[in-house]
Amino acid sequence: MKNSKKVLIIGGGFAGLSCAQKLAGNDDFQVTIIDRQNHHLFQPLLYQVATAALATTDIARSLRQILAKADNVKVIMDDITNVDPKTQVATSAEESYEYDYLVMATGMRTSFFGNDQWSEHVIGLKSLADAYSVRKRVLEALETAERITDVEERKRLMTITIIGGGPTGVELAGAYADLMNRTLHSNYKNIEGSKLRVIIIEAAPRLLMPYPEDHSAYTKKHLEDSGVTVMTDTMVVDVSDRHLKLKSGETIDTHTIIWAAGMEATKLLNCFEGAPRDRAGRLTVSPDLSIPDVPNVFVGGDTADVVDGAGVKVPGVAPAASQMGRHIADVITYDHKAEGEAGSATGRPEFFYWDKGMMAIIGKNAAVVSAGKMQLQGWTAWMAWLFIHILFLVGFRNKLSVLLGWFFAFVGSKPGARVFTSRF
Ligand SMILES: Cc1cc2nc3c(=O)[nH]c(=O)nc-3n(C[C@H](O)[C@H](O)[C@H](O)COP(=O)(O)OP(=O)(O)OC[C@H]3O[C@@H](n4cnc5c(N)ncnc54)[C@H](O)[C@@H]3O)c2cc1C
Repeated sequence: MKNSKKVLIIGGGFAGLSCAQKLAGNDDFQVTIIDRQNHHLFQPLLYQVATAALATTDIARSLRQILAKADNVKVIMDDITNVDPKTQVATSAEESYEYDYLVMATGMRTSFFGNDQWSEHVIGLKSLADAYSVRKRVLEALETAERITDVEERKRLMTITIIGGGPTGVELAGAYADLMNRTLHSNYKNIEGSKLRVIIIEAAPRLLMPYPEDHSAYTKKHLEDSGVTVMTDTMVVDVSDRHLKLKSGETIDTHTIIWAAGMEATKLLNCFEGAPRDRAGRLTVSPDLSIPDVPNVFVGGDTADVVDGAGVKVPGVAPAASQMGRHIADVITYDHKAEGEAGSATGRPEFFYWDKGMMAIIGKNAAVVSAGKMQLQGWTAWMAWLFIHILFLVGFRNKLSVLLGWFFAFVGSKPGARVFTSRF
């Protein structure tokens, strides 16, 4: 039997999946990809599931289905709880998995900056379950608001507060503004769409901090013109199930609080004791993306703290994660050609990041794009955003379904996913 190496990939997100896809069909490797979910999730469109513009199945696809044709790749649904780099075994509650090469591609998780008790009242946005929870909370609140007559309580139920003014917060705020301005009035007979209150709170002096200042100014103006309350330089110090408190002492009565403010690396990385990390817990890797002194273990995607071969700090975005996944596959293949023990090759290729720019959508016909010298705002940026997001969705069926969903949501003002299961 051929002496193929065992490659274990933990995480079927952008980094893990692209690594598996690059090794697919190469029978020098027996690849196992493990994820605690059975699907690959296109997180950039999570906010559209949260705001009922798309269905959950539009932005996720079964990993098994994506990798069905790759005979050397096995897909396992399991939750890995420990890795022992000495014995080269990863374990879950019930199973253990041996490896020659390990790829850690476990992404990030929501972080409340030390206020873990807030998770009871605040919903993060990282998984399909989160997006569904947000959608349900908002739609359920609107149903109650439609039924009751208490004006103050109705106002509280119709207040959505988003903490965090980065791309996710801005995209959520824009989508709720669209909902409030274009569709609510025809669906609810007692409450008026214009009475939906959307508040976005950012601790920094402006929205979209990593973007050029005029994009931030454009975004603020567009949101405010759409009826969103934008609060910058504002710190949230406490939350409860009925309101949140600001550092200034002001209290905001609100039923829905969405957290779009912070992420930290997944806990599984703690298995690599003594490995260097950044403040968010990401492992700082060597230029080939392996952990220093552990050459057969690679870290890719959001969970890696990387400065590339050209000295560029690599951001936590989907294209960077995919590029890292493919690079790790190349290094593993390079190593194998050198025919030594896993991780013994010298002169491994360094990772270089190809920066394709950043973009955020703010509502219908409004977006910002920042890609080197190309700076776009408004309709052209919106079209670029739509095109890129369709292009990178996994699977033809998903692309078609999302295009149809957008057609009805944007053109026909009819978001298609307003159904949720009730408590009754
Ligand atoms: C709401 C939101 C909006 C975003 N918008 C954009 C955008 O517009 N453009 C952009 O470029 N980027 C965007 N991003 C960032 C982008 O999604 C990430 O950079 C990308 O998903 C990182 O890929 P990854 O493979 O590192 O991790 P992920 O895609 O997070 O995948 C990690 C996988 O690991 C699995 N996993 C974790 N721990 C375990 C374990 N112990 N056992 C088994 N499986 C495990 C998880 O289930 C998950 O499937 C957004 C992110 C979010 C949350």
